[in-house]
Amino acid sequence: MNTRIIDGKAIAKAKRNKLAQEVKDQNLSPSLAIILANDLDASAIYVNKKMQACDEVGIKHQLHRIPRNASQDDIISLIEQLNNDSTVHGIFLQLPVENHLDSNTLIQSISPNKDVDGLTHVNVGRLVAGDHGLVACTPQGVMEILAHEKIDLSGKHAVIIGRSLLFGKPMGQLLLQANCTVTQCHSRTIDLPSITRQADILIAATGQAKMVKSDWVKNGATVIDVGISKNSDGKMCGDVDCEEVKNVAGAITPVPGGVGPMTVVNLLSNTVKAAKK
Ligand code: NDP
Repeated sequence: MNTRIIDGKAIAKAKRNKLAQEVKDQNLSPSLAIILANDLDASAIYVNKKMQACDEVGIKHQLHRIPRNASQDDIISLIEQLNNDSTVHGIFLQLPVENHLDSNTLIQSISPNKDVDGLTHVNVGRLVAGDHGLVACTPQGVMEILAHEKIDLSGKHAVIIGRSLLFGKPMGQLLLQANCTVTQCHSRTIDLPSITRQADILIAATGQAKMVKSDWVKNGATVIDVGISKNSDGKMCGDVDCEEVKNVAGAITPVPGGVGPMTVVNLLSNTVKAAKK
């Protein structure tokens, strides 16, 4: 099988360039507040990447590093202050947060109009109702990859492994609205490979390194790998055993360089969208 490797980096770059042009042409001054409430090196790297990407597009950014001993109420006060600041258009909470904090309570205190991660109940509700407000960045990115690759969705069977609020659930809604027949799998699904083998579009978002093997995939299927893990030699890898699945899939997103860059660019596009409103 001549499997196409989807270049998410290039798709994201094209979108980033278009956004930069839009910001310039329309004389916009979008601004994003990023809240970092953990000490993890990986989170610091992700936040730096996001700030760099903001610079490329012309989005102002401010980073709020939360001290380790800050309380939930301290952070909610900060969020309220940002909610009321008309010069801030987007508020993004980098996940995870320190153990003593409750990420959901923090997210729900963000104004839905500034919720550029699309995770408040209002924005999730809007998505389910088909009235798109700010949509979660990664599922939005997957839809853009599928559109860019001209993957026909109507009537196709899409199987998603994962049902998180951050990814799996909004992904299911977007595919349903694109007229796919959607099956949502999770850790209690019985005989997962027998279900994934039926997928025209298979999307894996579990965080289980290289779980999806070639005999889980139908010939010619489109495989989207959202997972991020490290393999035994410390290198980044996804949920899909890409070397094996490459011989079966019609098209596949690599890790890194597949879905990840789309997540970042959609944080930017949601910020621009919020600024325009
Ligand atoms: P969660 O941990 O919130 O959800 C994981 C989901 O996978 C759950 O629904 C869980 O089932 C399911 N799952 C876990 N193990 C298995 C298994 N063995 N078989 C079947 N289902 C399983 O993670 P997220 O949704 O937030 O993220 C998923 C992955 O995607 C992570 O690796 C994350 O790092 C990555 N990610 C990547 C992004 C990117 O930009 N590329 C952006 C966001 C996430 P159950 O509900 O039953 O527990």
